[in-house]
Amino acid sequence: MDALPATTLEDAPIFDADAFRLTPFEAELTAKARRFGATVLAPRAARWDREATFPTDNYRDMHREGLLGICIPKDEGGLGADFRAYCMTAAELGRYCGATALTWNMHVCSTLWTGALTEDLDIPAEARAEHRRRRQIHYDRILADGAIYSQPFSEGGAAAAGAAAFGTTAKRVEGGFLINGKKIFASLAGHANYYGILCTEVHEGEKLSRRDTLYLGVPATAPGVTVEGEWDPLGMRGTVSRNLLFKDVFVPDDAALMPPGLYFQAATRWPHMFMTLSPTYMGICQAAYDFTVKYLRGEVPGTPPVKRRMYPTKQIAVAQMRIMLEQTKALWFQAITDARPDPSKEQMMRALTAQYTVMENANALCALAIRTCGGQSMLKSLPLERMYRDSRCGALMLPWTAELCLDRLGRDTLYEKGEVD
Ligand SMILES: Cc1cc2nc3c(=O)[nH]c(=O)nc-3n(C[C@H](O)[C@H](O)[C@H](O)COP(=O)(O)OP(=O)(O)OC[C@H]3O[C@@H](n4cnc5c(N)ncnc54)[C@H](O)[C@@H]3O)c2cc1C
Repeated sequence: MDALPATTLEDAPIFDADAFRLTPFEAELTAKARRFGATVLAPRAARWDREATFPTDNYRDMHREGLLGICIPKDEGGLGADFRAYCMTAAELGRYCGATALTWNMHVCSTLWTGALTEDLDIPAEARAEHRRRRQIHYDRILADGAIYSQPFSEGGAAAAGAAAFGTTAKRVEGGFLINGKKIFASLAGHANYYGILCTEVHEGEKLSRRDTLYLGVPATAPGVTVEGEWDPLGMRGTVSRNLLFKDVFVPDDAALMPPGLYFQAATRWPHMFMTLSPTYMGICQAAYDFTVKYLRGEVPGTPPVKRRMYPTKQIAVAQMRIMLEQTKALWFQAITDARPDPSKEQMMRALTAQYTVMENANALCALAIRTCGGQSMLKSLPLERMYRDSRCGALMLPWTAELCLDRLGRDTLYEKGEVD
């Protein structure tokens, strides 16, 4: 039997529009996402999890709702959401189906990074005009055909952590590039229409350099692209994050999602771009809390109306959950509001702190929720068990894993730029 949706249409917004002073656009977009999540994503979520299959039906419906183009600029046909509006919308979807929100994030990055973010970066006028022409090709595919882009980044070495150049290479050839390499954990593998890969342009006789990172949209059907490996993980099972192999794959110049050098500039000057994995887990934080309140009140649909709220231990646990949720929301909201080019050190440190907090608290809230609700709540017939497994994955996501956030926060707190012992 499929798990019942944890939440219903009456769910309150994660970020109340008045209290958090959302713009009318943000309020409308997040309300739309909440309705869509509750009615479309939640009833299907157990299926993708049980089968470890990609949520294809959800993508068809998201295309219809315009959500595949959420971050495509308005004058280029999309909804025109900026970083903050996107993050809050993604959190509302993550509340109802983690795997859909997480894979959608990979897709949306192909438009956010190439759209709003690039407007803040330095690009010579001619290159900017060419970039706009090229990105329209990608945007048209998304808007008209519902094309899905993924974001294979990880390779199993130090590159995804930002500590080395990507080992997947692109060699300049007549009319385009020849790509070789391997990506691991490539969510949407076998389901995306285009793989937005990060790779390093090869310059004969020179060592691979992070400055030469290219961001290329490779058609899934291009000769030389193969998907391999099993996918049977603990959580986020609907992401289908298998391995991707590239063997002498040719892509034309127009496959460039960013001009040469721009990804490096974005990663250096717009670091909040790496926070986009966190909204999904912000949504899970809220969902674990919502479930617990409903369960203790005897209001989870499809379960007997047994109330457990009268026990002081339950009340204390719910109080702890509420405190943790409010702390997480407040910090995360400030961090996504901070996002901008060239953030201050304080803003940068807050972004890492928020990422760490969301990823760790998602799992902690789910664990506390199961302990508090009790044995029946971890049955697969209820969604909390899935949230618990999904929530475990957040802290592992590069480049800002919980460990790497701690590393950087500790070091940068004690050392100013240029200081050594
Ligand atoms: C559900 C799911 C979906 C994913 N989807 C995608 C996707 O779509 N695209 C994608 O590119 N990746 C994706 N990933 C991969 C993810 O971002 C990480 O790359 C992956 O989890 C790393 O696993 P690993 O065992 O190779 O980690 P390792 O590289 O072995 O690292 C293990 C841990 O060591 C620490 N570490 C790593 N490098 C350093 C370093 N240089 N210095 C200090 N500490 C370090 C980190 O804390 C890391 O968690 C996904 C992962 C999951 C779980």
